[in-house]
Amino acid sequence: MIEIKNVSKWYDQFQVLNDCSTSIQKGEVVVVCGPSGSGKSTLIKTVNALEPFQKGDIVVDGVSLSDPKTNLNKLRSRVGMVFQHFELFPHLSIERNLTLAQIKVLGRTKNEAYKKAMQLLERVGLTAHAHKFPGQLSGGQQQRVAIARALAMDPIAMLFDEPTSALDPEMVGEVLDVMVLLAKEGMTMMCVTHEMGFARSVAHRVIFMDQGKIIEDCAKDEFFEHSEHRSERAQQFLSSIL
Ligand code: ATP
Ligand code: MG
Repeated sequence: MIEIKNVSKWYDQFQVLNDCSTSIQKGEVVVVCGPSGSGKSTLIKTVNALEPFQKGDIVVDGVSLSDPKTNLNKLRSRVGMVFQHFELFPHLSIERNLTLAQIKVLGRTKNEAYKKAMQLLERVGLTAHAHKFPGQLSGGQQQRVAIARALAMDPIAMLFDEPTSALDPEMVGEVLDVMVLLAKEGMTMMCVTHEMGFARSVAHRVIFMDQGKIIEDCAKDEFFEHSEHRSERAQQFLSSIL
């Protein structure tokens, strides 16, 4: 589903991604972790073509991002992305936040888009808030709306970049619950998160990055239960967050 092949990226002289390779199968949930500045956000944004890269290639559902013929906007509309800060449209109601791209990008009718929006709001437990504006919702509720908005596009995969790290602790659970549900439904997911409880319960694989490199890429149990086999850097990181 997602193949990352020897991807390197530089900001001027600074190499932010160093020969990164991995692949994510359909239905697989992969957690990406690592210290601040290790390149996690950059890696996940390259998958969605939000960040260009200078070397290597990424192939999403058979489509190569480095092929000049690829329509990157079309690709972006098929891969959902949820960021740390919810980035909802503040001047639009929740309902309009969920229907806008469905109508403008996918060409759905207002009625179709509305139905889909309401189905998704029900799934994230926010039906009663459809007519409110983002500023009237809590952080956890806004993040659930952001997830619903991404799902409204019927994505082939979902990318998350620390979706819970800007939330007050009491709101983390409600967002993770939605992500766990998605994972259990078989959504292909790549999640940058330090929520190791989430990783332990639903991830299939864990990728650990350091200084722009993928240092570990292994099955969840290998990562958590056999940490003595992991690199020293990964062990240090694990002991600092667990
Ligand atoms: P965090 O855990 O803090 O979110 P991260 O692993 O997501 O960190 P990135 O945001 O991918 O790390 O950044 C990787 C490195 O690239 C950092 O050293 C950062 O300073 C640098 N970097 C990121 N964006 C730019 C940019 N636009 N220009 C120059 N350097 C950048
Ligand atoms: Mg980051």
